[in-house]
This record gives sequence, structure tokens and C-alpha cells, in this order.
Amino acid sequence: MPNYKAFLIKYAEIGLKGKNRYVFENALRDQVQARLSNIGDYCVQREQGRIFVECPNDFDYDETVEALSKVFGVSGICPVVVIESTEWEDITAGVGAYMDEFYEDKHFTFKVEAKRASKKYPLTSPEICSEMGAYLLKHFPELHVDVHRPQVRVYVEVRTKTYIYSHTIPGPGGMPVGTGGRAMLLLSGGIDSPVAGYMIAKRGVAVEATYFHAPPYTSERAKEKVVQLARIISDYTGPIRLRVVNFTKIQLYIHEMCPPEELTIIMRRYMMKIAEHFAKKDNCLALVTGESIGQVASQTMQSLLATNAVCTLPVFRPLIGFDKQEIIAVAEKIKTFETSIEPYEDCCTIFVAKHPVTKPDLAVIEASEKLLAEQIDHLLEEAIGTAEVIMIK
Ligand code: ATP
Ligand code: MG
Repeated sequence: MPNYKAFLIKYAEIGLKGKNRYVFENALRDQVQARLSNIGDYCVQREQGRIFVECPNDFDYDETVEALSKVFGVSGICPVVVIESTEWEDITAGVGAYMDEFYEDKHFTFKVEAKRASKKYPLTSPEICSEMGAYLLKHFPELHVDVHRPQVRVYVEVRTKTYIYSHTIPGPGGMPVGTGGRAMLLLSGGIDSPVAGYMIAKRGVAVEATYFHAPPYTSERAKEKVVQLARIISDYTGPIRLRVVNFTKIQLYIHEMCPPEELTIIMRRYMMKIAEHFAKKDNCLALVTGESIGQVASQTMQSLLATNAVCTLPVFRPLIGFDKQEIIAVAEKIKTFETSIEPYEDCCTIFVAKHPVTKPDLAVIEASEKLLAEQIDHLLEEAIGTAEVIMIK
């Protein structure tokens, strides 16, 4: 492998933002800086339509590429060889060594693209291209030049040092986290909600999370699983404030007072209410869930309508049109799947009715909730007041 010392970060979508462009570029720079600061002392700079990362001496290439490939807004990552000289002999030797090390098979067409920072440099950019092209053809006879549609573009940038790169590792795309506001994710230990969090963050939205547990019906291990899922997605979303709400008393009370087939819907409505309370406290502009139409009884159009009715904030459901297999494919890609399928009980699955309503009538549900009038306000207050806060990263 060539001796890489830097990375050039390319971005696509954020390049399109007109006068706000610098806001997005600065956000991306900050996100790259924040993620890399977890693994080392990198120097990250924004310059002319791209971001440049200089690596510390002892950096780990694979770890760095992995961290960068989780920063939304990055469309491509180019590993860069840095030559500590601008002398022509050093540059040709450096480019030659780079080509030799990176391309084992040299049967391809190429073109040299050159830039020089100073007009005082003895060769112009076209001269650098043609001289370097001639040098490479002489040393590697298998190579061919194609100036119109080359298979490989070899970039040579002469500044106070010389920078060489030619290949791009695809980035995750999307928008830098934070440029799209903030949302509250209802995060359970299942497969879907971590994927929903990932997808909303991909659009530049920062994420906080709320998890409902029901001890002793759900275990400490089930909670640890959710913390672990939050950790995995925080590689993409950045830090998450995870609120863990004890939902046991509310759940038992609904179980005691309301028709069993309505339990799930009513429970989900209270989850939304509590999550919305924290959302507003944390300056979130929306709620996010892992729901998908028709997946289970509580996710029919009628059920979604009934759940939605308690919210004043918009509820985003990034997986709404996804099949389970499509959700699993993303979960595997972002590495939440293995954790999600660990077999710990979920508070939605205890006390579930054999035949839950699949087409709840909002008026009927609201009438059933009146049966909770005596204690529910107090229980909500207690659940909110005793919520535990866990800072992820
Ligand atoms: P998931 O795989 O994410 O658990 P699911 O298919 O099990 O989803 P439900 O249990 O109906 O579906 O939950 C729908 C959504 O409600 C979840 O995606 C999640 O956003 C939210 N949710 C469910 N249970 C909880 C919980 N215990 N804590 C926080 N949010 C929850
Ligand atoms: Mg679930």
C-alpha cells in the first residue's frame, strides 16, 4: 500500500446549496473533525470546494477510512500521498512509486491532472501534466494515455508540498448531521428503530432518543441492548442523549383499566406523548419511529392515525414504505442487526393481546383512555420525572 499521509474529502449534495454553501461545508468539516478526534490528532481544513485531512504520524489507515465513511455529507474519500518537496525529481519519483505500489496491473488508460498553488512554480499546470504523463509512459509501458475518457485520473497538486491521489473510496452520501435540525427517535431494541435513526441522520438531522422499559418485566440486559444500539448508530449520528423511561406503572394501569385488544395502541399513544415531552425539552422539531405500514397491528394506517393523534410535532417514519427484508439489509450494513436480534424481551411484547385491534377507531380509543383519568396524569409525571439520562459518546 502507498504511504498515505492525508485524505481529501469530496462532497456532492452540499455543493449545491448556493449562498448557504459555507454553512454546510463548515458543518461537514466539524463533523469530520469530531469523528476523527475520537481516534487521533488529525488536522482538518476546509479549502476550495473540499475538505482536507492531514493524518498524525501514527494513524491507522483502516480505522481512519472507516470513521470517515460514516460521516454523512461525505461522497468520496481519496487517500493522498504527500511528498515533502516540490522538486521535480522528487515529484516524479513519488508519483512513480505511488503508481507502482497502488496499481499492480497497469493495463489501463490514464490522464494526469495537475494543479499548482503558485504561479512562480517553474512548470505550468499543462506542462506538469505532459511531463508527468511522459515520465509514467516511459516507466510503465503497459500504460496508455486517454485524455478524454481515462480509466484513472492521477492528480498531482504542487503547493508547499506535493499531493498525489488517484482513487476514491465511496462515502455514505447524505447531509452533514446538524444541518437539518434535531429529532427525537423512539428507540427500542428491535431491528427497525435503529435503522430509522440512521436514515433520519443521513438527511442531516441530529438525533436524541427515548427508550421505554418495564422492569421487572423487561431486564437490565434488554436496556443494555438499547444502549449498545445507540452506541452503534452514534458513529453516524454523533452524540445521542438517551432517555430511559420506566413505563411499568403506566403499562400495568392500562392493562388493568382498558380493553386488552386496545392495549398496544393506547400504550403507543402514551409513549408518543412522553417522547414528545422530551423532544420539546431537547429542542427537537420532530419525532421519529421505525414504523412501516402494515408490519404489525399497531402499524396499519388506522393505527398510525390513532397514534399520531396525540402528537403536535410531526412524526417522521423513514421506513414507512420498506419491507422487512429491505430494513434488514440496512441493519446489516450499519451493523445493528446482530445486536437487534439478541433475544431480550421488549416492553411492547409483554401483556400483548392475542387479537389486537387492527383498525382502531380514534373515538373508541379516546373513550377507553377516559378510564385512566384518575391516575394517568400522576403516572405520566412520575415516568417523566424519574427518566434516566445516558449520554452516548
Ligand atoms: P422495532 O424493530 O424498532 O422494535 P417493531 O417492528 O418492533 O419496531 P413496534 O414494537 O410496533 O415495532 O414499534 C414501532 C416503533 O415504536 C418502533 O420502531 C420504535 O420507534 C417505537 N417503539 C416501540 N417500542 C419501543 C420502546 N420500548 N421504546 C422506545 N420506542 C419504542
Ligand atoms: Mg419493537
